[in-house]
Amino acid sequence: MSQGTIETTEQALFPTYARYPQAIVKGEGSWLWDSEGNKYLDFMSGIAVTNLGHVPKAVKEALVAQLDSLWHISNLFHIPNQAEAGKLITDNSCADAVFFCNSGAEANEAAIKLARRYQQKVKGNGRYEVITFHQSFHGRTLATLTATGQDKVKDGFGPLPAGFKHVPYNDLAALKAAITNETAAIMLEMVQAEGGIHPVDPQFIQAVAQLCKAEGILLIVDEIQTGIGRTGKLFAFEHFGIEPDIFTMAKGLGSGFPVGAMAAKEELREAFTAGSHGSTFGGTPIATAAVKATLETIIGQQVPAHAAQQGEYLLSKLRQQLAGCTFVNEVRGLGLIVGIECKEPVAELVVEAQKQGLLVITAGPNVIRLLPNLLVTNEEIDQAVAILASILSAR
Ligand SMILES: *Cc1c(COP(=O)(O)O)cnc(C)c1O
Repeated sequence: MSQGTIETTEQALFPTYARYPQAIVKGEGSWLWDSEGNKYLDFMSGIAVTNLGHVPKAVKEALVAQLDSLWHISNLFHIPNQAEAGKLITDNSCADAVFFCNSGAEANEAAIKLARRYQQKVKGNGRYEVITFHQSFHGRTLATLTATGQDKVKDGFGPLPAGFKHVPYNDLAALKAAITNETAAIMLEMVQAEGGIHPVDPQFIQAVAQLCKAEGILLIVDEIQTGIGRTGKLFAFEHFGIEPDIFTMAKGLGSGFPVGAMAAKEELREAFTAGSHGSTFGGTPIATAAVKATLETIIGQQVPAHAAQQGEYLLSKLRQQLAGCTFVNEVRGLGLIVGIECKEPVAELVVEAQKQGLLVITAGPNVIRLLPNLLVTNEEIDQAVAILASILSAR
């Protein structure tokens, strides 16, 4: 890449990311090309965003068609794409009403606001507190970074909003001890992703769902990274036979077009009245054209089932190829969100993989995170595992 781009980045942008030295300029399916013409096998998908691979045809065609007719109109009017995209979510989940926004953090903000308003306005009980878990990640706005169970995202941003409490993940006794008359909601991920690829304990989440029902506490599931087929179900909570009151989605929802959504059960609908929440860009005709085409493809082509099968294949290949590798502690995952936990920090290994043409990311210091697109082939998995095995065995 030209030195000029690196310099312009350093001059014009905030240094909020430790950027790699490449500029990626083209993508197709599982493959990416940088500005020098180097080709990469993409096992990060823009962090679980491009679940259908890069530039999926059906989504591209829907976007191009929408670009020709209407880009933006206020939510003060009906937006047919938004209504149909919402219906795809409610028809295929336990939710009955959807609010569209533009990112994951905004979807979680909407969930927290809905939970508080439901408790305070519909139930009239004044509850406001949200309990979340250590090592969770819920976003970068003031409320969602406060909800996040990691100190590094909070550093220097105080005072933080009141009404959040954190307990250890998968620890029912600690959770029970934290509940008070102020508890409005419990919010969690089904696989803690940024926190190191830690799946929820099935018995724990089932007990949490029962507890919420018994105590009048709302259960919020953050499906921003795990949703839209990633774990082998459309939404990861389906694995555990539970139904959240509220769940949020974003990353994979528009195949790369920025869009988020918060979905909730019927009894929560009336908590949001006209004017109580909103977003200028939430669910524009273009954004929801992307959502519609993405969900139609994911659901119509049974992509979650394919993701489940490819996830099994990826896990079994990794376990087989890394069996004798003393540098690796554990390989774990659910569907196509997979972590390789190592004995030491892995940041350098990610750069080594890039040099060998494979893009992966970390999840915490010691975990290599694999997030291929959901249509990934066996051959592509074999290639990625061969590169990872050669790097990890050399340690
Ligand atoms: C990425 C992520 C978010 C934040 O989404 P943004 O679109 O970056 O605001 C929230 N929760 C989880 C689980 C995520 O993975």
